[in-house]
Amino acid sequence: MTNSDSGVARTLATAGPPPEMAIFQLPTGTYETPAALAFQGGSFRDRRQFAATAVLVRHPEGDVLIDAGFGTQAEEHIRMLPSFRRSPHRLGSTVSDQLDAAGYDRSRLSGVILTHSHWDHVSGLDSLDVPILVTDEELRYADRNRGDRVFRRVAAGHDFRGYSFDGPAHLGFPASHDLHGDGSVVIVPAPGHTTGSVVVLVTVRPDQRFAFIGDLAWQLDGIARGAQRPLLMRLLADSDSAQVRQDLARVTALAQHMQIVPAHDARAYEGIPLLVPDAERRATGAVPSAL
Ligand SMILES: [Zn+2]
Repeated sequence: MTNSDSGVARTLATAGPPPEMAIFQLPTGTYETPAALAFQGGSFRDRRQFAATAVLVRHPEGDVLIDAGFGTQAEEHIRMLPSFRRSPHRLGSTVSDQLDAAGYDRSRLSGVILTHSHWDHVSGLDSLDVPILVTDEELRYADRNRGDRVFRRVAAGHDFRGYSFDGPAHLGFPASHDLHGDGSVVIVPAPGHTTGSVVVLVTVRPDQRFAFIGDLAWQLDGIARGAQRPLLMRLLADSDSAQVRQDLARVTALAQHMQIVPAHDARAYEGIPLLVPDAERRATGAVPSAL
């Protein structure tokens, strides 16, 4: 272990997640992208299914979602995009429907943390009546973003719970926000893909840590190979590609300590359980009863 690795390990050891903490993935559908457009070195013959998956983090102080996946009006949201951004897609069950199917008590849900405000991360807000946790900088970005009006549509009527990076430098990132004050959910700024993008670091147990990196990389290949998006897609998709490169390096340095989850790579969610519907849960007793 190098000095910086032991520094990371020391920092991680200060997180004190409560024993009731749990995490679930809520896949809401996929859309198709040639690998050549997804990461540098990818082939045009190889097509990737981009996941639109939300994550539920249960915590006694209040559960949060990370992103919201596709919503009930996803088809309409896709029609709102410029034509070059539309692609073949498959819509699954929305976050809202998955919560209901699991018999989830909505009063436990305190908000949705957005990794950023692009349509494929926020569409599901159309059927979730919960506060949106977002930075002022990302709200300014969403306001300026003429190519993607979906956030303004779905955010209307929601409460906003703004937060700032009021905490110290954390795991290589210059500042942080500790959501519950126990180190279990720490948000850090990664303002490259959009000017207010964030990474959400979640510690469920000491041996179960995750970095939800939003669109810092679209696929795990972006981490494993240190491969950025192809140049054209960087120009089209990123606000600041030098910042993306720096933040990717920070995340890559954490890869031996935690599971790195690019939002759109279905493989990256491996090991994170699904919310099991009521009937299934009664039959198997597979999920804690206090959903
Ligand atoms: Zn995205």
